This record gives sequence, structure tokens and C-alpha cells, in this order.
Amino acid sequence: MAQIIDGKAAAGRIRDLVKDDVDKFRSVTHRTVGLATVLVGDDPASEVYVTSKRRLSRQAGIEDHHRRLSADAGQDEVAAVIDELAEDDAVSGILLQLPLPKHLDSKALIDRIPWQKDVDGLTTTSAGLLARNAPGLRPCTPLGILALLRAEGIDLSGVSAVVVGRSELVGKPLAQLLLQQNATVTVTHSRTRDLATVTRTADIVIAAAGIPHLIGAEHVKAGAIVIDVGIHRSANGLIGDVDFEAVSPITSRITPVPGGVGPMTIAELLRNTIQAAKIQT
Ligand code: NAD
Repeated sequence: MAQIIDGKAAAGRIRDLVKDDVDKFRSVTHRTVGLATVLVGDDPASEVYVTSKRRLSRQAGIEDHHRRLSADAGQDEVAAVIDELAEDDAVSGILLQLPLPKHLDSKALIDRIPWQKDVDGLTTTSAGLLARNAPGLRPCTPLGILALLRAEGIDLSGVSAVVVGRSELVGKPLAQLLLQQNATVTVTHSRTRDLATVTRTADIVIAAAGIPHLIGAEHVKAGAIVIDVGIHRSANGLIGDVDFEAVSPITSRITPVPGGVGPMTIAELLRNTIQAAKIQT
């Protein structure tokens, strides 16, 4: 029987560590730690994500600097808010909740965030620092996946890891982090021919394609570890990119949806926020 990897418990442990770290930082530096969340428009899923990021930040002792802009806010208006937060010493980290309304240029707005406050790790500078393996802030979901594997005691050196998806948010930075841990990494994407043949070679399959139940039993070799990044609302509640019922009996360990990678992403956001505060002092 596969062991279920408990992301909720692992995330709770990280948040406790962050809380201690924030307390220590405050008493040593006499400075606060603050997270600014910027939400443009009224996308219901984004509202849910931002609300839980703010709630868990506050619980970790991080000050809440939330900014809400209307769905028709212009590029200059959003840029001005980011610039103001960039200048504010009470703000350690800036998170621009994505996706933005279509009329806005997301890349240009993300790149206004100074890398030292880029707690989502999505600016061009942060991506360059990651590529060079230089100190900086890394994207939260890939960090969460690595932390989960570490918590499970999995040594990545030499293992064959197949990443399904090459997005700037998940697949690409994850592949780079896995490489830095000496995994043998293969990245697959929408143009990959015969996905199952590639994923069946993997000791670890990480599914981040954004397609419900893309990964079935035929995609996984016996005893592999499967990490499911996908989140989709269905009639049966939240489901992932992996067909859990079909795949879990074949695996040695697998993450559930919900309760796997999702909680780790927020925990790593909090960890990046205290990290950002330290970088700035
Ligand atoms: P995206 O749409 O930006 O990227 C999807 C990637 O999958 C693309 O690179 C594409 O080439 C690849 N792809 C598409 N079809 C494929 C196929 N048939 N075979 C192989 N690759 C294929 O998505 P994203 O932002 O990377 O997110 C992926 C999923 O992860 C989504 O379901 C998203 O909701 C979820 N997500 C979860 C968390 C979390 O905290 N758990 C965080 C971020 C994203």
C-alpha cells in the first residue's frame, strides 16, 4: 500500500518554525516582518487564496499589508501601488496575486517588485539568481515540493525525476531546484510525444500540467513516488493532475489533493517572507 505524504502536517511544522523565526527576528532587530498581498479584481479563486495567505501570515506573526484594486485598474495604477510597497520599510515581501485581469501586462508588473521583496520568486532577477544557483528567493510551490521530499527523508541525488509541465511558476523552477539537488531531471510538456513512456522511467513523477487526472496507472512504474501539484474543482471536490485511485496502489508514496502540495506552497511563502526580511537587513 502506498504511503500518503501528509502535506498539511509538514506545512504546519514549517509555519511553527517561521513563527519562532519571526519572533526572534523582531527581538533582535526591533523590526517587524510584513507581507503585502496585492489583489486586482474579484476572481473568486484568487480571493480564497489571498484570504488564506493573509490569515496564515498573521498567525505566524507577520504583519498584513493588503491592497485591493478594482478589476478595471490600469497598468499605471497597479504599478504605483507596487512602487509604494517597494519603498515601504514595513513591507518585507510583495505578492502580486495571479492571474491579473487580461488588460494588464503581468510580466512588467511582476518585474517592478525588487528581488529582495519578491516572495513569489517570479521576477526576471529571481529567475536569473535561481538559474545561477545564487542566493535569492525561489518560487513557493517548487520549494514546497522539495521540502516535502526532504521531510520524507528522500535523498534526491542520482534519482530520476520527471517533471510534467514547464511553466515559469512550477515546472521550470522545480526542474532547476531538482538539478541542484543532483537529481537526473527530465522535463515534459504539451509537445512531449508519448508521455507515459517517459514518466514510466521515473523514480519520482511530479505532475504540474493543469489537466485533471492526466496521470493514470499507465504513467507510473511500480514503487515510484508521485507528487501531484494540480488543483481542479470538480463535482467530487478538489482533484489533482493524478488519478489518485488508479495510481496510488502502484506507488510507494503519493501526495493527496487536497492536503499535499497546496498547504506547502503557503508555508513556503511565509518562509520566503521572513527570508526576505533578513535579506533586507
Ligand atoms: P500552466 O498552465 O502555466 O502550465 C502547464 C504546463 O503543463 C505547461 O508547461 C504545458 O506545456 C504542460 N502540459 C500541458 N499539457 C500537457 C501534457 N498533456 N503533457 C505534459 N505536459 C503538459 O500551469 P501551472 O501554473 O504550472 O499549474 C499547473 C497546475 O498546478 C494547475 O492545476 C494549477 O492550478 C496547479 N498549481 C497548484 C499549486 C499548489 O500550491 N498546489 C500552485 C501552483 C499551481
